[in-house]
This record gives sequence, C-alpha cells and structure tokens, in this order.
Amino acid sequence: MALTRYFAPLAWLDDGPRADVLIEIDSGRFSAVTPGVEAPADAQSLPGLTLPGLANVHSHAFHRALRGRTQGGRGDFWTWRRQMYQVAATLDPDSYHALAVDVYTEMAQTGITCVGEFHYLHHGPDGEPYGDRNAMGAALIAAAAEAGIRITLLDTCYLTSTVDGKPLEGVQRRFGDGDATAWAARVDAAPAPPPHAKRGAAIHSVRAVPADQIPSIVDWAARREAPLHAHLSEQRAENDACLVYLGRTPTEVLSDAGALGARTTVVHATHLTDADRTELGDTDTAVCFCPTTERDLADGIGHARALVDAGSPLCLGSDSHAVIDLFEEARAVELHERLRTERRGHFTPAELLRAATQGGHTALGWSDAGVIAPGARADLVSVALDSPRTKGCDPAAIVFAATGADVRQVIVDGRVVVPA
Ligand SMILES: [Zn+2]
Repeated sequence: MALTRYFAPLAWLDDGPRADVLIEIDSGRFSAVTPGVEAPADAQSLPGLTLPGLANVHSHAFHRALRGRTQGGRGDFWTWRRQMYQVAATLDPDSYHALAVDVYTEMAQTGITCVGEFHYLHHGPDGEPYGDRNAMGAALIAAAAEAGIRITLLDTCYLTSTVDGKPLEGVQRRFGDGDATAWAARVDAAPAPPPHAKRGAAIHSVRAVPADQIPSIVDWAARREAPLHAHLSEQRAENDACLVYLGRTPTEVLSDAGALGARTTVVHATHLTDADRTELGDTDTAVCFCPTTERDLADGIGHARALVDAGSPLCLGSDSHAVIDLFEEARAVELHERLRTERRGHFTPAELLRAATQGGHTALGWSDAGVIAPGARADLVSVALDSPRTKGCDPAAIVFAATGADVRQVIVDGRVVVPA
C-alpha cells in the first residue's frame, strides 16, 4: 500500500481536537501526524472533525434481530432472554453470516473500526456440532471482513444454565461444549485467524461456567496472551444465586479462579460491592459498560466513576444492539451517573472518547489502535460538524453532540471503508 496523505481541518490528537493536521499513512499505519500545517496540494481532505477508530467491545450480533421487536414489551431481563433464545434457535452459519454482515456494516457506518464478538452460538439446533465445529465463528469473522472492520472473536465457554450447575436445556444446548477442555479443543481446531481478526476467550458468566472450569479458560488465554472477557453481575439474581451456592460474589469467584488481570475485561459490572470494585481496580481489570442495553433490559446503573477511580480502564459495547452508536454509549456513561447521583460532571468528554477508542481497542487485544499517532493502525473516523445535530457544537465536546449518523467517512487500517 503506497503512502497516502490526508489533511484534517480538525483531528483528535492525544486528548482533544487539533487544527490543520497532516496525516500520512503507509502500509495501513500512520507514518506521520503533523498538526498546524497548511494543506499540501496532494493531500485528500477529510470532512469535519476526524477521530480515532471506535471500538465496540461487546457484541452479540444475533441480538440485533430483536431491535424494535421486544422494546415495547413488559417484564425484565429474563423475559427478554426467552425472546432472544427464539432468535438463537433459528440461525445457521449462512443465515448468521448474512445477519452479521448487516450488523457489522451498521457498525462501520457509525465509525466502529473493531468489534469484540462475544460468541456463544456455536453448535447446531440440537447441540450437535457442525461438520466444521467452528462454522458459526468463521461466519462472523468473514462477516467482519465483508463489512471492512476488525474483529476479536471472543469464543465463549458456556456449560451450565444455573449457578448450581443445572445442565443446558432447549436452545442453550447450542451454546455448550460439555466442559472447558472440550471448549479449548474446539477453539484450537479453528485455523489461524486472518489479518483482520484475533481470537480471544470468554467465560460467559459464573452462571454458565462452574468455578472449577474457569481456570482452564484462564490458562488458555494466558498461554496465548489473548483477551479474556466475562459477563459480571449484570443481574442481581446472578449475585444472589452465587452467594447462596458458592458463598461468594461473582467477582470473588472470578478472582479466586485467577480470571482477573490486565488482559481481562468484565462486561456490565452493574451490581458490585465496594470490595468487588476495589478488587477489579487493583488487578487492572477493564470494565465494559453497555449503557443502551443496560437501560433497555432494566439492568440497573453501574458505578462507572467508582470503578475507574479504583483503577479499572473503561470501555464500551453495544451488546444487544438495541442501538449501535458508540457516541450514545459514551455519553450515556456520564448521563446515567447524573441520574444516579443527581450531580453533573463525572467524566470529561476526553475520558469518554478514550473509552470509545483506545480503551476499547486495548480491551480487544489491538493495543496498536485507537489513537491518531505515528506507528498506530490507520483508522480515521470523520464526523460532520455541520449536521443538524452537530452544527455549532464545541468540537472538544463532540461526544455529547454527535450520533453515528454524523459519521461521514471511515478508514480502517488505511483502507476507505465508508467513503465521504
Ligand atoms: Zn452480553
């Protein structure tokens, strides 16, 4: 790939917008980034404000099929889950591929350059493996390539239906591998991922993975220095069952199994004790908030500021894809804190944007992405500053004004994925 030069009237460098930035790209990476220069004649102009690539850390692509179909209903998370299982029952590798291409294309169009797919829909309708045991995962990796974004396939171990170890039933049988050893054997049978993809591991939750199986998954990820993700305390019912049957909080179960650490990201982290938050922070475990899903499913509001203050890096996901818009996820972290505390100003716009960019890419194992700086992967997301939503806004506070619909151009690894 030859040297390409772009000129941005405004680009987000370090922690804020800088004017008149010349951005040079060589072989998919930034070779030079120079603010405060005149536009060279041979440079292509970028519209509006150009941001680093956004990373969507937590996705279940098939949940997208529920958008606009479940929101009008009543009940709680568990009511919704029954409807989600009905969708899971219908998909095969071909139909899942087609659905995921649409989902990931929507992500690309809204400035998401990398997705973390928390993938547990592994097997056929009766739980029988496909001929290629990783056919569903391969369909997702191929879908990301078609959409033009990177993917970290977080292959998810899912073994039981309750904390006390009840076996999987009904559609859940599609998720299960039997035990963690068989899970690892299946994952290892997959071919090496193509350049746009990485493989990581996920513990579905303490509900779905018995405590004695967790260390095998931790070990698999450690040996590969791969990301390790887990749902954590999204629902009070999970906490209650965990305390009854295991005598510990879900965070303590993960900690005792060695699952926390700098390569680990816990998702939701909604209902935690102060000691849980201290443990996550002390171990440098990242936290992924998914505010649009958490509000849709009536999960509750996690204490994002307290987690970050404890030491946990923050990142963001659209999870069930009721909404795919990382700007909305980012500002919702701050706005939900306001609702909870009746005070404003918990996170700066720069902190929120960092969670949506560098924080997310790091949590997905792409620590060389999410910033506009020499050597980094050349992702550029240009946002209109003249749309009905963004006109007149302070570019430094773009995260409070823009939506995914204001994204005008997207470049991933130096390649134009969404043309201006
Ligand atoms: Zn999830």
